[in-house]
Amino acid sequence: MGKGSTGDVMFGKLHEECGVFGVFDCDGNDVARMTYHGLYALQHRGQESAGIAVNDDGVILHHKDMGLVPEIFNDVVLNHLKGRIAIGHVRYSTTGASLRENAQPMVVKYKVGQLALAHNGNLVNASELRTSMEENGAIFQTTSDTEVIANLISRHRVGSDNIEETLEKVMDTIKGSYAIVIVTPKRLVGIRDPQGIRPLCIGKLGNSHILASESCALDAVGAELIRDVEPGEIVLIDCDGIKSIKTKRKEDSHLCIFEFVYFARPDSVIDGTSVLQARIAAGKRLAIEHPVEADIVIGAPDGGLNAALGYSRQSGIPYGQGLLKNRYVGRTFIQPEQGQRESGVRIKFNAMKSEVAGKRVVMVDDSIVRGTTTGRIVQMLKDAGAKEVHMRVSSPPYKFPCYFGIDISSSDQLVASKNTIDEICKKIGADSLGYLSLEGLLGIAPDSSCGFCTACFNSAYPMEVPVEGNKFSCGGGK
Ligand code: SF4
Repeated sequence: MGKGSTGDVMFGKLHEECGVFGVFDCDGNDVARMTYHGLYALQHRGQESAGIAVNDDGVILHHKDMGLVPEIFNDVVLNHLKGRIAIGHVRYSTTGASLRENAQPMVVKYKVGQLALAHNGNLVNASELRTSMEENGAIFQTTSDTEVIANLISRHRVGSDNIEETLEKVMDTIKGSYAIVIVTPKRLVGIRDPQGIRPLCIGKLGNSHILASESCALDAVGAELIRDVEPGEIVLIDCDGIKSIKTKRKEDSHLCIFEFVYFARPDSVIDGTSVLQARIAAGKRLAIEHPVEADIVIGAPDGGLNAALGYSRQSGIPYGQGLLKNRYVGRTFIQPEQGQRESGVRIKFNAMKSEVAGKRVVMVDDSIVRGTTTGRIVQMLKDAGAKEVHMRVSSPPYKFPCYFGIDISSSDQLVASKNTIDEICKKIGADSLGYLSLEGLLGIAPDSSCGFCTACFNSAYPMEVPVEGNKFSCGGGK
């Protein structure tokens, strides 16, 4: 489902994420370029817009636009963004909220200066908070829940000169998932929601500290991963180091387990667990739970590749490349029409006839969302001569909407919410279909320092959620 799986997410619009990055420089580094490189590494978390904000001696300079990181920034822009503290953001959102004004970081003026803020996650009470603030005279420039957070910070700041106290009050008010980076006049701040639903880690490069959604962004700038920001923790960073405020107990944490299934890059380490190893473990477990006689195991690029490797290792069935992904096709999932999505599938993927013809194929993917794209790929493999196609999914049936980061407004859009596994198998035209069990999934990250959210499989939401269809999206609008 994530970084280029077969497309039930990419073309079926289930994908919804953002990435954040921040740096406080104490060594004379070019913070804008570091942030640019960090955002490049986080591009898989959002391709709709990107931005960088830099604190130049108390004045915040920023640049943001629609598009990919390399399309938005060039030498001239980066040379202009000088300073010691920087944050950056990459964003994906629903089509309706695809507006430049919703791009981040968001820069606001308040009592003691300016701050810039970038957010990954969804607030489940943003609508309620916004209405109440509007009734009290607030005017919003965007449809973003990030502006709700910014507004709350500036309001609480009026009565307090203490940023720590302000942020704790804001955390008491907002509900949902959030990993936030903030540039204040003097510090870089990172905040992770009390349940730790979205990841945020801390790195070190020389005397400078970095915050990032994933550790792959630390690798990209040559920084070393020190640790994750803990659920409910606020970190305040300057050249004296890191000041930590632990606002909530960690035992209640619910890291999104889909970060391991597909959101995150496989070279990242989240809360002590390698994403790659978690995916391989999911594939191994899948092979134990759903064995089948076959000649080759293939992964749906890119989301199913690591789990396919695990399936192959466990089952002893050779691993091969049965599908080619055209990496130059745009992310057609933003196209709203079904017809456009379908043509996008044919352009984006092709079956490798020489690899699959005459063979019994196991195809592994990270999820099935609507089922239409999976069905087209199964057909593509059969057209290429595959004798049998056995579909294996490295997560349980996705049945319930997510309110913390994925763009599905209704369970009606999810094929598993209204069909049995046999019915789905028939719909996609596979010879057999097997999903990883929830117990199996929970076992893929045994060393994780966090508990997990699994609500999209079992509706065990870790907090009260709004009624279906009434939610704000990742830094975006309704
Ligand atoms: S509902 Fe699913 S996708 Fe959403 S945060 Fe929970 S595990 Fe992740």
